[in-house]
Amino acid sequence: MSKRIVIIGAGLAGTTTARELNARGQAVTVIDPQAGETCERPPLSKHLFDGSRHHLPYHLESTEHITFVRDRAEEITLAEAAAESRYTAETQRHPHPLENHHATAGAIQLASGESIDFTHCILATGMEAIRPDVPAYPDALPVYDLADAEWILERVNNANRPLNVGVLGSGYLGMEVASSAVAAGHQATVYLRGDEPLRKQLSAPVRQALFYKHKAAGVEFVTHTSSPDDIPADVHDLFITSVGARPRLIPIDGHRPAHAWDVDESLATSHPGVFAAGDCAIVTAGPYAIDHPWACEPVAESHGKFLAELLGEGAGEPSNKGENDSESASGSGPEGGPKVWSDVPWHWSFQGPQKVFTAGLISPDATDTIIRRDPSGAKFQVFHFDGVDPEAKLIGVETFNWPPMQAAARRVLGGNNIPTRAHLEDPDFDFKAHSRL
Ligand SMILES: Cc1cc2nc3c(=O)[nH]c(=O)nc-3n(C[C@H](O)[C@H](O)[C@H](O)COP(=O)(O)OP(=O)(O)OC[C@H]3O[C@@H](n4cnc5c(N)ncnc54)[C@H](O)[C@@H]3O)c2cc1C
Repeated sequence: MSKRIVIIGAGLAGTTTARELNARGQAVTVIDPQAGETCERPPLSKHLFDGSRHHLPYHLESTEHITFVRDRAEEITLAEAAAESRYTAETQRHPHPLENHHATAGAIQLASGESIDFTHCILATGMEAIRPDVPAYPDALPVYDLADAEWILERVNNANRPLNVGVLGSGYLGMEVASSAVAAGHQATVYLRGDEPLRKQLSAPVRQALFYKHKAAGVEFVTHTSSPDDIPADVHDLFITSVGARPRLIPIDGHRPAHAWDVDESLATSHPGVFAAGDCAIVTAGPYAIDHPWACEPVAESHGKFLAELLGEGAGEPSNKGENDSESASGSGPEGGPKVWSDVPWHWSFQGPQKVFTAGLISPDATDTIIRRDPSGAKFQVFHFDGVDPEAKLIGVETFNWPPMQAAARRVLGGNNIPTRAHLEDPDFDFKAHSRL
């Protein structure tokens, strides 16, 4: 029996996997109510007010190898035979021997009542926005899906004067909305629980620099807003909520995890034949294990490439085995063990004219970082290490308004010459030149 790879979700992780498997000549089925019509999410929070393109479709089309099922997956049942089948946890972690004969690992039940069998299933269901009630603004919406964004855009486009925009929440999306509104000539007020924005996302030097820039540009902040009930009525023409998102999870044999799908270093769940990618997965092992989903575009894409490489082996083009270069999302594990997702994770957020990036592992609570600035002092990078001693290795970099240095950070973290704290403390150390070694 040949492989039956089924992907649930046609967002970035799902479309990337499907596209790459298609290029390898591997048949794949993609389940999503909007399969073939999905689009990128990042422009939604950045281009509500500036008239630029907010709708960037993925352009995934059905082909000889890609079958769309425009339906919602409701649950997965694993094949009873799975326990005796070849899909033990061990074979799943070493997928190479699985190439020739494949037992059905389970079936996906669809909302239509139909079901689809699979040998390999990739959960790529992303996240959904938390939608708090704001009593003073019953029309308040998050800007998470195209439908939300289009509803908001209609109001923006129909306005014949600058709008007074209220935003609840001060994470990346909230700050993108507020700063882009102000950059386009509107007013914006951010209501936040704490006393500074981006507290959970960025280290103190970066979030404080952004706070200063946004205030200077005219964004207003109402700190210590403990509840949406405290937001005053009759102030804002438009109200947008941005208080986080949670993974969309469908049950497997009746089990639905509390937060997201835990996956190992090969993006395999604990369920035989089932993998998870992008925003619905927590990577619990390997070099970029953290305790929450990465929830960023480059990681969703990298997960998709990794799984296509892992599962598409033997079909079409040979995969790039074990090379941890910029084109490959994986490296082999120790002693030729399981392939490991090892692409350097990174994130970007454009907040009006401000551009902030992260690469690798960074912590918003870190205090033992090193800061390096450009000669004007306006652009800078914050370097994070795996310890405090001089030989501690660089593990992550935040970059403020300095895109070429973000590219350098990604090259350095993905290369074989990882600098130490002692290197970065040396004023003569040339980080950009080092990135070219
Ligand atoms: C407004 C916004 C702005 C962002 N900006 C940035 C940014 O600037 N930089 C950055 O790095 N990241 C950004 N992100 C994050 C980035 O977009 C996500 O990390 C990425 O889209 C995750 O891809 P995904 O494939 O995991 O999930 P998604 O892209 O969310 O796709 C999930 C898909 O699964 C489908 N689905 C869900 N449940 C089911 C089901 N039961 N059956 C069938 N299909 C299902 C959904 O319909 C959806 O099409 C932003 C996100 C948002 C919402």
